[in-house]
Amino acid sequence: MPNTLIYIFTFIFGSMVGSFLNVCIHRIPEGKSIVFPPSSCPHCNNPIAFYDNIPIISYIMLLGRCRQCKSLISPRYPFVEFLTGFFSVILLKTFGFSIELPVYFIFAASLLVITFIDLKYQIIPDVISLPGIIVGFLVSYFLPHGMLNSIIGILAGGGSLFLVAFGYQLITGREGMGGGDIKLLAMIGAFLGWKAVIITIFTGSFIGAVVGSALMLAKGKDTKYAIPFGPFLVIGALIALFCGKTLMKWFRIPALLLGSSLRRMLKIRLTPHLRRALVCFVLTLCMRNYLCRCV
Ligand SMILES: [Zn+2]
Repeated sequence: MPNTLIYIFTFIFGSMVGSFLNVCIHRIPEGKSIVFPPSSCPHCNNPIAFYDNIPIISYIMLLGRCRQCKSLISPRYPFVEFLTGFFSVILLKTFGFSIELPVYFIFAASLLVITFIDLKYQIIPDVISLPGIIVGFLVSYFLPHGMLNSIIGILAGGGSLFLVAFGYQLITGREGMGGGDIKLLAMIGAFLGWKAVIITIFTGSFIGAVVGSALMLAKGKDTKYAIPFGPFLVIGALIALFCGKTLMKWFRIPALLLGSSLRRMLKIRLTPHLRRALVCFVLTLCMRNYLCRCV
């Protein structure tokens, strides 16, 4: 029973942070301060009273409308509050009271802000991703994967997307991926290490390709319809954070098959790590290529 109580308080704490993340999502792209002035209605500019600013509950009590001007409040507000609360609970369940808990809480919170800004404005603000790379690298000193793993993650994350973006532009003459995605993946590498970067690119590209194709089917073949890639990288990073170890095991089967055929054809022997990395690389290239064609 005390455990349940801890989780309830964790959820409440998370949703309160989520309320602050909403302010960040609203103000960072406009270049406004995130601490001053206090929250106000974006329609009538009336300040929001503390009793109307209770995460999730206020939205339900007000039936999704501003108390003053009755204009609709975006469902994004309670959704972000819920997601932040939800991830707080999952993080506590996964990592317990350890150093990873506050680190990955800040990491997940930054990813949430990035996702919703990218969905709305199709940009990934440097004010989050660039300090994120530095913070992720510094705190990795205290994390199990360590600083070397983190720096390889930054290079792998930033470098691989840069190469794909560069190659894509070279071949098609069109810009396929924004610089924001590259900095985001470098930040993910800084916080999670290089193995997570591989999982992030693969799962993110795969989900992005599926959603991208579905959207293309639904909206017709409008190639100018650009889908932001950032949210998919974020989903990939969260998958890497919570199920990375399990996924790495799954990669062993195609890795073994590829390794044995390479050994027969080219007479070279690969270490298990190299085999896995190679499979991920091939899969990633396929997925990324597909997604580029969609976008
Ligand atoms: Zn209002």
